[in-house]
Amino acid sequence: MERFQDENKFLGSFANEILVKCPKCDSKSAVKKEPVSDCKCGYCHTKVFECKHCYYKLEKPNYHYVAYGKVYCSKCFEKYEFESQSLKEKPEKYKAKCPHCNFQEEWKPKIEEFLQNSKADDGLVKEPYYDLSLWFQKEMNGDIFWAFNQDHIDYLERYIKADLRERNNTGSSNATMVSRLPKFVKEAKNREKLLKIIEKWKK
Ligand SMILES: [Zn+2]
Ligand SMILES: [Zn+2]
Ligand SMILES: [Zn+2]
Repeated sequence: MERFQDENKFLGSFANEILVKCPKCDSKSAVKKEPVSDCKCGYCHTKVFECKHCYYKLEKPNYHYVAYGKVYCSKCFEKYEFESQSLKEKPEKYKAKCPHCNFQEEWKPKIEEFLQNSKADDGLVKEPYYDLSLWFQKEMNGDIFWAFNQDHIDYLERYIKADLRERNNTGSSNATMVSRLPKFVKEAKNREKLLKIIEKWKK
């Protein structure tokens, strides 16, 4: 009997290298984690896509920005909060309107950056940084089985093969990669099919 014990890995643990299809030449390529060039602290990373076949390169992930702040209106002195919609460029200034007196003025906002998953219009699963289609993905009765890379595939394989799946909850681990797997991946009736897909991916 095979046992699988959740190592409490998060999807992010597999995101250092995400295998994707190059949008220019369709080759197998990767979005990789790389240090930020002007970082002094050693912790700042970004994700870079570079195709080894056609040298197409992408270095600026699809971040979106929200400008927000808590301010006192210069005209009526009332306090108010503002928050922009999702913006494609990081704004230096943001023009907000006082809800009390309608006075408009520009503020230097706080910025929150985030990745916006675009909807996959062609039904394919994409990584969030550059919206590139994952290399490892396979449609199965309307669901898509997908993986970021080899490590991820190995981990999924161990999970799917196991007869006994042990969750290892320490309370806060509810969002591990395994606990978030869609139902069709967990179902015993799909085991054979999923393992066949994995076998093909591993070749
Ligand atoms: Zn840094
Ligand atoms: Zn390419
Ligand atoms: Zn005002």
